[in-house]
Amino acid sequence: MSQEHHLDALVVGTGFAGIYALYSLRKKGLNTKAIDRAGDIGGTWYWNRYPGALSDTWSHLYRYSFDRELLENYPLSRKYLTQPEVLEYLRHVVEKYDLRKHMQFDTAMTGAKWDDRTRTWAVRCKTGDVFHVKYLVMAVGLLHTPNTPDIPGIQTFQGEAVHTASWPVELSISNRRVGVIGTSSTGIQVVTAIAPKVKSLHVFVRRPQYTVPSGDQPWTPEELSHIRKSYPQMWSDAFASAIGMGFPEPARKFLSLSPADRSRILEDLWQGGSGLRFMFGGFADLVIDEAANEEVCQFLRGKIAGIVRDPQKRAVLTPKELYARRPLCDGGFYEAFNRENVFAVDVQKHPITEVTRTGIRTADGEHYELDVIVFATGFDAMDGSYAGMTIEGRGGGQNQDLYTQWRRDGPATYLGMFVAGFPNLFLLNGPNTAFANVPPLTETNVDFLVDIICRAEEIAAGTGRPCKIEPTPKAQQEWTGIARAMVESTLFAKVPSWIVGKNVPGKLEYSPLFLGGLGRFRSILAEEKERGYQGFVGPLGGAKTQAHL
Ligand code: NAP
Repeated sequence: MSQEHHLDALVVGTGFAGIYALYSLRKKGLNTKAIDRAGDIGGTWYWNRYPGALSDTWSHLYRYSFDRELLENYPLSRKYLTQPEVLEYLRHVVEKYDLRKHMQFDTAMTGAKWDDRTRTWAVRCKTGDVFHVKYLVMAVGLLHTPNTPDIPGIQTFQGEAVHTASWPVELSISNRRVGVIGTSSTGIQVVTAIAPKVKSLHVFVRRPQYTVPSGDQPWTPEELSHIRKSYPQMWSDAFASAIGMGFPEPARKFLSLSPADRSRILEDLWQGGSGLRFMFGGFADLVIDEAANEEVCQFLRGKIAGIVRDPQKRAVLTPKELYARRPLCDGGFYEAFNRENVFAVDVQKHPITEVTRTGIRTADGEHYELDVIVFATGFDAMDGSYAGMTIEGRGGGQNQDLYTQWRRDGPATYLGMFVAGFPNLFLLNGPNTAFANVPPLTETNVDFLVDIICRAEEIAAGTGRPCKIEPTPKAQQEWTGIARAMVESTLFAKVPSWIVGKNVPGKLEYSPLFLGGLGRFRSILAEEKERGYQGFVGPLGGAKTQAHL
């Protein structure tokens, strides 16, 4: 039965971003609620329950910084957090701030329409609920909508076919014949975790990637005491850095060092663990200088050759492309292929042609008998998270539906958060946001958002009318152009992946991330605030046109 709600703000999503947005807006006195299509909080960490799911960011920075007590006292044990541990942490935050009573689950948003007369959004949900709000905050995640390839015959498979982002908790893989499609961040975690448990494991590899050891181990008491003592400095360093992962990002250039020093540092990075640190924590230009990148590829290919004993498996797993995708790390991925029950199938050479009732067939006519097929095939990223929602802005009509517009023209935003024509709609970590560790990126976005909303509330109190927060088309165009130019100046642009909007067949290619670094992103936001929000229309940005007053 339909229920009408009248609030100041609605937050859609209860992952890292949604929880902090709900907390922050309520703290400012705004009557705010959060909804989620899931049955509980967690966002990414609610859905991605596949075996081996782990956050590959160091655990002491994979948490919020806003609550010093929580930061210092919430337990830390190992260098990385598993999916259940992240979920437990988020639950703890929600309980601590008593936020659950402001949340509604199993409530999928289907659409929203802006009313320019009342200056409110009417947000519709599958449940029949309609929320009338001044501010609509989308915290739907960067990687939410699964990408499942449309392989002929997939419906006929009589075993179990699952995408990693909707892993059924009751699914048993013990002693079964399992096939995994995809060997990126998710695929390598699944393969490593299930290899010792399954009867046989066929890994269908298209474009193999480079992965380095994660270096996961318990924090030592000395490390823990150092972390606890240094938290304020660590967080201010992370906020000022490029990717906010907690390691120094040296400015030195790879080829400025002698070959011996280069290999010594690469070896140290390999031994130390972490894919993100390997790519960004040794040198400044691995994803800019092609010659440097190629030398790193040689180093990594040498490592693979040293681990994978079987020449056929080794050949399938050895990448030929540049090292320029979201970096990976693992807890024994290459080693898993030394097991007799684990096989590497080259689906670049012989693509998958069909799924049959009992398995997968490839172009060379081989048929692999399987009980379970795991799609570790990633996501329709960023703008893809808005699929299935019709968001109509100023002017209304089909042309103004956000998702249709984005699919036609590519997503354009201002600062990854605001969209021209869609007043008071805010995207947390939306298209063209900064590429960085999600918790500090989220805090950055939400803090800016709360400031601008507070300013809008002050203006509204003065004028007696709700104030619109909407970027100028010029500011939006410039920002989107900056993000694109940045991606194109790196080697990421040369290797298709979701980071450059090239992973889903038929999707318009675009550059979904600002690669200028978190620190620079924060400075840009601070300047925007100091300049009095000049990138925005109406009284907020200083414009005095009648339409916006
Ligand atoms: P992904 O990086 O997009 O990789 C998808 C994989 O599926 C690739 O190996 C791809 O092969 C393969 N694939 C897709 N369609 C295929 C087809 N038709 N046939 C054969 N192979 C196919 O997805 P993901 O691994 O889920 O990772 C996405 C992002 O999630 C990561 O970049 C990361 O940001 C996040 N993530 C993070 C963690 C963490 O530890 N923090 C863990 C998991 C995921 P090609 O390479 O040939 O395209």
